[in-house]
Amino acid sequence: MKKIAVLGSTGSIGTQTLDVVRDNRDHFKVESITANSNIDLFEQQIKEFKPKIAVILDEKKYKDLKKRVTGNIEVITGTEGLIHAATMDDTDLVISAIVGIAGLIPTYNAVLKSKNIALANKETLVTGGRLFMEAAKKNNVKLLPVDSEHSAIFQSIGNNPKDTINKLILTASGGPFRNKTKEELEKVQLEDALKHPNWEMGKKITIDSATLMNKGLEVIEARWLFDIEAQNIQVNIHPQSIIHSMVEFIDGSVIAQLGLPDMKLPIQYALTYPDRYVMKGKKLDLTELRALEFYPPDMDRFPCLKLAYNALKQGDSTCVVLNSANEEAVSLFLQRKISFKDISILIEKTLEAHNMCAIKNINDIIDLDLWSRKKLNEIYEMRCNLC
Ligand code: NDP
Repeated sequence: MKKIAVLGSTGSIGTQTLDVVRDNRDHFKVESITANSNIDLFEQQIKEFKPKIAVILDEKKYKDLKKRVTGNIEVITGTEGLIHAATMDDTDLVISAIVGIAGLIPTYNAVLKSKNIALANKETLVTGGRLFMEAAKKNNVKLLPVDSEHSAIFQSIGNNPKDTINKLILTASGGPFRNKTKEELEKVQLEDALKHPNWEMGKKITIDSATLMNKGLEVIEARWLFDIEAQNIQVNIHPQSIIHSMVEFIDGSVIAQLGLPDMKLPIQYALTYPDRYVMKGKKLDLTELRALEFYPPDMDRFPCLKLAYNALKQGDSTCVVLNSANEEAVSLFLQRKISFKDISILIEKTLEAHNMCAIKNINDIIDLDLWSRKKLNEIYEMRCNLC
């Protein structure tokens, strides 16, 4: 019986993780779960999975939730609560599925406590990759990728030594706007951006997929997870999302992992690794597919991907600014305050205002995160005043 913590249990990855647990009740016990504010769903999850600890970040909802939950379940709030949920003595595996940099502190603390991590929260590696990987190594932590591309690479590498890898090839669906011209992209609306052709995901990652920033964040994630330099990580647009990513080896062999676009597969593999369990549902039938297409991404139409590659080349602090500026710009877009095109413009201008600096510890990341958000909002206000 594996004892697990599910950070972000009410989200897209969190709910699918609990689906996997529901299908494999003899193998998993949920020790702790966390949410931000969705107390109705959270209450149902608490009643069904009976964790020891349930953490709700939103303090206004905390009192209400506490009244609703009875029995031997500790309901707590605040960042300290998240850390507690991620570091409980009995927990074997922490599923890190909070969205955004909010996932960094609990996940990093779990690593310091030598907890194995099933990592969905890519922002942890984008902002703190170097510190996080060093801490994981020092504390003997197994890092199991949940992102489908990284799970595919992890499976494709298998036991091959690192010096046999030539390059990683991350596939990208291209999002809902892959065929739109630059002019058309200026007119797209929030509703269009939220309609991903292949995946059902939370709002932030869905917008990141439409701008291709998601792929940029994944390139940075792959750089840290697999210790491969940016120039050896390639992105291919693959609209069918059947090949989830590939590894090219020094002899020219390419090994890929294929499957239907269903996040439950990489989630379950991260939970059961190194074993594989039966999974219900439709399986891939290649004869049903007419073609598998691949082409290079257009960084002119989708500048966020280029910004991410540049940030990775520049250094750790630039990646923090990239991530925070992106979170802030996406939030403005979700509030309909800026256009789709403004997302990359605001991020680029925030990056231009940043002077590279050393990232020595988690507090440096938190400080730079705050600076980037403030700077992006200043730039946004300035542009509004000019209009
Ligand atoms: P969702 O928005 O669906 O869920 C986010 C979860 O985090 C919810 O439980 C939410 O609680 C909680 N949360 C939000 N803000 C905070 C906060 N400030 N502090 C604590 N908890 C918070 O996101 P996804 O599940 O789509 O994505 C989660 C992570 O997984 C992201 O990093 C994403 O990039 C990554 N990922 C997602 C994939 C997907 O298919 N969805 C695929 C690959 C990676 P509440 O519901 O109460 O708001």
